[in-house]
Amino acid sequence: MNIGLFGGTFDPVHRGHVALARAALQQCKLHRVYFVPANIPPHKQRQPLSPFVHRFAMLALATSEEKAFVPSLLEAPEEGATPIRINARTEKDRQEKPNYTIDTVRRLKQSCKASDKLFLLIGMDAFADIAKWHQAEALFRECEFVVASRPGYSLADVANALPESLRPRPEVTRPFHKQPATGDLVLPGVTIHLLADLHQPASATAIRQAAAAGKPLGRFVDAPVAEYIRKMGLYK
Ligand code: ATP
Repeated sequence: MNIGLFGGTFDPVHRGHVALARAALQQCKLHRVYFVPANIPPHKQRQPLSPFVHRFAMLALATSEEKAFVPSLLEAPEEGATPIRINARTEKDRQEKPNYTIDTVRRLKQSCKASDKLFLLIGMDAFADIAKWHQAEALFRECEFVVASRPGYSLADVANALPESLRPRPEVTRPFHKQPATGDLVLPGVTIHLLADLHQPASATAIRQAAAAGKPLGRFVDAPVAEYIRKMGLYK
C-alpha cells in the first residue's frame, strides 16, 4: 500500500488541506491518507492552540466523505484520546514533549507491512523550513515527500530547502531556477513529488480571524466544520 501521512496543527482543518490530500491521493496513487493533528507542534509552541480534541473532531468531520482519508490519533496526548479531556491546555501539557514527525513516522511504520511505502504530505511554506526539523535527514530516508507548490516557487527553492547533507551542489541546481516546482525531483537519498499549485488560498490564521470577527466561514471550510466552530464557540 502507498500510505500518506499529513501532519499539521489543523486549527482548524480547511479546504487547502483537503485539496492537498486529494491531489496527493491522485498523483501518487495513495491508498490511504492519515491526517495527524499534533498535540504539541514543535514549531508553534508559543501561540495559543485549540485543545487537541476540538482539532481532531473537526478533522473527523472534514474527512468523513472520503474513504481513503483517516483522522489519526498518532500524535494524541499521552493519556490517550480520552474524549473527556476538553479543557484548554494545562501547564503539564505545555511541558510535554513536542510531537516530532520522525517519531510519528517510525511509530506508523511499526504497524505497516515491509512492502508499504510511506509518503509525507506537506505544503511548500512548511517544506521551506524542513532542514530545521528534528532528524530531517532520517525523514528523507524513511519516506518520500509530496510537496504542494505555491506560485513563485522554483525547483531550485525546493532543492535548496533540503538539509545540507542532501542538498545538491549549486552548479547542479543552477538550471532549476527557471523551472517551476512541478513533477518529480529525484536525487540521491531524496524523492519529492511536487503537486502543482492547488489554487486554495485558505489558511487557518484567516479562519480564526474571520471567526473572531463573526464573519461567515463557508469560503474556507465545509458546512459541518463551520457549524462545529460556531457551536463550540471556537476562536472567539
Ligand atoms: P496557520 O495559518 O495557523 O499557520 P495553516 O493553514 O498553515 O495554519 P497547518 O495546520 O499549519 O495549517 O498546515 C498543515 C500543512 O498544510 C502544512 O504542511 C501547510 O504547508 C499545509 N497547508 C496549509 N494551508 C495550505 C493551503 N492553503 N494549500 C496547501 N497546503 C496548505
